[in-house]
Amino acid sequence: MSITEINAKSLLRKHKRIDSWFGARYGMNLYRGCSHNCIYCDGRDEKYYVEGEFGRDVAVKINAPELLKKELNPARKRVPFKKGYFIIGGGVSDSYQPIEIKYRITRQIIEIINAYNYPIHILTKSILVERDLDLFKENNKKNNTIISFSFSSVDN
Ligand code: SF4
Repeated sequence: MSITEINAKSLLRKHKRIDSWFGARYGMNLYRGCSHNCIYCDGRDEKYYVEGEFGRDVAVKINAPELLKKELNPARKRVPFKKGYFIIGGGVSDSYQPIEIKYRITRQIIEIINAYNYPIHILTKSILVERDLDLFKENNKKNNTIISFSFSSVDN
């Protein structure tokens, strides 16, 4: 497995309308590539521009927390952010894949979203999500936190 640290130019994807699958208004990928390497994952499709070999090579957006703070800063916005779910994870990465144990980017991102008081929707296949239950409880007190957990089975 190869890990590359990158500085992304931007982080947040803003949907024109609330996304009908996940109910989110904003999305982000904190990693590019996913070592869970699910056989059916469409992240390996060329249209997502994930460099390297999907499932083996993962790029870490090490400046993601800094970018999110900048992008959420109300002083920098002419039009304020609308209230809506921030979905963490998505088509090209699981935010709780094993490399998150070392980098803790997802945890930092949740702390920032909590500070700005937006609801969170997490998509994951990893029990590492349990590490951040304290932050989800905090988020859920004022907002509404959704954790969508999927898993594979050998039993059809
Ligand atoms: S966990 Fe999600 S992003 Fe990662 S390989 Fe599987 S389907 Fe793709």
